[in-house]
Amino acid sequence: MRLKHLAIAGFRNLGAIRIEPGSRFNLLYGLNAQGKTNLLEAIYLLGSPRSFRNARLPELIRHGERIAQVQGEVESGGVLSRIRLTLEQAGRRVEIDGKGIQRASDLHGRLNAVVFSPDDTAMVRLGPEARRRYLDRAVYMGDIGYLHCWHGYHRILKQRNHLLKSADRSGLDSWTEQLAGAGAEVIERRQRYVALLNVRLQRHYATISGNGENAGIGYCPEGVQATERAGIRADLLELFARHGRSDERYGTTTAGPHRDDLAFCLDERPLKAFGSQGQQKSFVLALKMAEMDNLQAIFGEPPLLLLDDMSSELDAARNGNLMEFLSQRNTQVFITTTGRSPALTRAATHCAVFRVEDGNLTFEGNESHE
Ligand code: ATP
Ligand code: MG
Repeated sequence: MRLKHLAIAGFRNLGAIRIEPGSRFNLLYGLNAQGKTNLLEAIYLLGSPRSFRNARLPELIRHGERIAQVQGEVESGGVLSRIRLTLEQAGRRVEIDGKGIQRASDLHGRLNAVVFSPDDTAMVRLGPEARRRYLDRAVYMGDIGYLHCWHGYHRILKQRNHLLKSADRSGLDSWTEQLAGAGAEVIERRQRYVALLNVRLQRHYATISGNGENAGIGYCPEGVQATERAGIRADLLELFARHGRSDERYGTTTAGPHRDDLAFCLDERPLKAFGSQGQQKSFVLALKMAEMDNLQAIFGEPPLLLLDDMSSELDAARNGNLMEFLSQRNTQVFITTTGRSPALTRAATHCAVFRVEDGNLTFEGNESHE
């Protein structure tokens, strides 16, 4: 996939921007708070229903403006399409080749991008919510049906919680049954994704770390042992029954896939508690490589890589590993840094360089390192 042209107006602190990115490496450099991450966020939003920063819609619109627009020309499978995103306080609109789309999922697979930002490394040490959000986003990228069933589950959850808060709880059993059905679908899709990702993660981690440690992610939904839909549903019904009293006491659904965590492990020990900083960084890098390979296997071409502010996260050795990985794949990469020439782009044969200053972008030419 390639982003061939990008136009932005009214998005965060960015001015009116029109650029033609390079087909392989793009460096966006500039001082702090100039708009580098905002640019990656705009690119990401062309292919995803949610920002990787989990921003709410009004935050994306430039202060004092009513409307923000991001437009991209994307080449995928040899076909060129135009994606236009319009953000207003009331909602977002997406047009593909001039025609409005009806469902968020119509955007699926149009512009796949994997983000690797300091937040991803931090995710190892944070609470379950950060990892669950990561999981949900990653599953959706490769599985068009996931968004629909995730929304379905949360709709039912809201209804059930509403009932738990009210005095009259008639109909609760029916909502519980529905929740178990929808939850089983969410869990099954997450399990399938994690199994796929694990094989790739292990391989990449072994290459990066150069030793025999076994890297893995574990998804163990609370109360669920089964791995197919009907069994998961039965397990969930039992889980909800066990939590019935506390659900009623707290007026909310206290267990279920909306509370699940994702475990990152080295040799089956939790990375959060036992992994060194270096091991944690290598793990997340391997995870991102696995994500990219997974999307390439599903869509037949590699996703974009949006590498935000990685100079602090990647040392020389990990830089080398990532470069080796990228040089074997036909990936378009956007890298942001505060310095003009990070190690990663010095290793690239060609790199288009853009300076980011006060929300504006200046093309400074192509660097060649042959
Ligand atoms: P750093 O190197 O520190 O990560 P950055 O270049 O990535 O910096 P961004 O995160 O892109 O910086 O943010 C740049 C600026 O955009 C911030 O100062 C922020 O206050 C501003 N900003 C964010 N949202 C809006 C908005 N809706 N309207 C106007 N400005 C905004
Ligand atoms: Mg930034």
